Amino acid sequence: MSQKILVSEVGPRDGLQSIKAVMPLEAKKAWIRAEAEAGVREIEVGSFVPASLLPQMADTAELVAFAREIKGLNVVALVPNAKGAARAVEAGVHGMSIPFSMSETHSIRNVRKDHLAMLAEIAASAQIAREASVHFAVGLATAFGCTIEGAVSEDAVVRLAVAAAEAGAMEFSLSDTTGYADPAQVTRLVRKVRAAVGADKLTTLHLHNTRGLGLANALAGLNEGITTIDSSLGGLGGCPYAPGASGNLVTEDLVLMLNAMGCDTGIDLERLLEVRKILSAALSGEPLYGFTPEAGLMLDYPERIAR
Ligand code: ZN
Repeated sequence: MSQKILVSEVGPRDGLQSIKAVMPLEAKKAWIRAEAEAGVREIEVGSFVPASLLPQMADTAELVAFAREIKGLNVVALVPNAKGAARAVEAGVHGMSIPFSMSETHSIRNVRKDHLAMLAEIAASAQIAREASVHFAVGLATAFGCTIEGAVSEDAVVRLAVAAAEAGAMEFSLSDTTGYADPAQVTRLVRKVRAAVGADKLTTLHLHNTRGLGLANALAGLNEGITTIDSSLGGLGGCPYAPGASGNLVTEDLVLMLNAMGCDTGIDLERLLEVRKILSAALSGEPLYGFTPEAGLMLDYPERIAR
């Protein structure tokens, strides 16, 4: 497997929006710069939600402008609706993604929109993206299960993905927003959604490590030909509904697995591990996760990645 895999760092968005502390803009910049220097090629720097709802994301436009100056870095942001999409385009993102909750209850609870209203936002956002030549992805959120509804029907995920494609989605990610996914489910759902929207349109998995299955789920996706995996440095984040639950898939552990397997991530893991210091300094008291940062690299790690 000498395949190119894109590790998309979502910590500055998914991680920071899930914790109470607000990271100062300068620390965010230092984090983004240091990860790019370690070889990370794509970073979701924030989200364009009203600052009154998420003060942690108030400086997203400034971060986009900053990150755009870093050569070779793909700068992406999350947008909740067409209004956010317009702000993202104005700020100069390379790409944006809109979360589309497969659980309608979750969607109504989180953004006060049912599926029909969300499809209208997707269509309007897609048009804004197309006109600006910006990449536009739809994140099929709560695709593996919902903290309110429980099981989410796979047929419904397929049907809603097709509807989003018709509304203008250029690409999809399957998002385990709640940490409910298991590897067999990942395999099944990747196959089903790809059969409906085309293999080239489903490239990304967005994984959480809530129950420790993040890496197993990533591997299941890789075996199906998934080429982009979202993760967060230090597994930053968590779940507002489950106190003590860990957050996103840990970038450091993911990069260790991929590099050791011989995948081409372009990321220097030793340099990446150093970036954690920026997080611990700026977010004192916030738990950081990860096995590799605790255990260190295997003694023969250099030989493994040279193979
Ligand atoms: Zn997430």
